[in-house]
Amino acid sequence: MDYIDPHVHMISRTTDDYGRMAYAGCAAVSEPAFWAGFDRGTAAGFHDYFRHLTEVEPRRAALFHIRHYSWLCINAKEAENVSLSREVIALIPEFLRLPNVLGIGEIGLNKNTRNEATVFQEHLDLAMKTDELVLIHTPHLEDKYKGTRMILDMLKNDPRVKPHRVCVDHVEEHTVRPALDGGFWVGMTLYPTTKCTPARAADIVEMVGTDRVMVNSAGDWGKSDPLAVPEFVQEMKRRGHPDAVTRKVVYENPLAFWRQANNWRE
Ligand SMILES: [Zn+2]
Repeated sequence: MDYIDPHVHMISRTTDDYGRMAYAGCAAVSEPAFWAGFDRGTAAGFHDYFRHLTEVEPRRAALFHIRHYSWLCINAKEAENVSLSREVIALIPEFLRLPNVLGIGEIGLNKNTRNEATVFQEHLDLAMKTDELVLIHTPHLEDKYKGTRMILDMLKNDPRVKPHRVCVDHVEEHTVRPALDGGFWVGMTLYPTTKCTPARAADIVEMVGTDRVMVNSAGDWGKSDPLAVPEFVQEMKRRGHPDAVTRKVVYENPLAFWRQANNWRE
């Protein structure tokens, strides 16, 4: 089955991974800006990173006929440095014109601190002024519920936010409903251990349905699997779900969300 992986950090994967994803049916990926594994020291470091996301990865993906899109921001882990964050946010507008940039992301919270919330709101302000799509990272494990509530409150308190232009990512059993009830899209991340396994994601689809729901591998440098979305497809087949149901989650939904992007070209 053709599929889209709407959240995968290909900068941290090999060219062979692109090949294996293509053989498994991957038609397109989107890559949110994230932490590099170390705190970058300068805004110039982010400028180079944004060029990597918008120039280098699309070329690498094209070798395997995979379309590559990206999202730009400074991630929550580096947001404790508010002055650096502001310099990075100021770099983003020049990249928003590029045809393969979908919007602002993955912005969010990590440890739910005041500085993280400040930088989140400044990204959100840029996204609203430029009418961009927004991709949101919700925190891990014990910080997830509180962080997700804080994020949903900040989104609801900004009257400019249109929920159908925002995806709340890394939802789990206890956060999926508040995000869907708010009118947002949601992403479930398929990790081998933490976040959702493919089986848990299938359980959640059985619980909440397929409207505004997508799944992703969030493949990165850590323990993760760039073939997690095809594994979810297999899990759905094993449970007897019709292909049309699975295809909505792994292909039609991410495409419908992306099609709202300002620069979208069919
Ligand atoms: Zn990510």
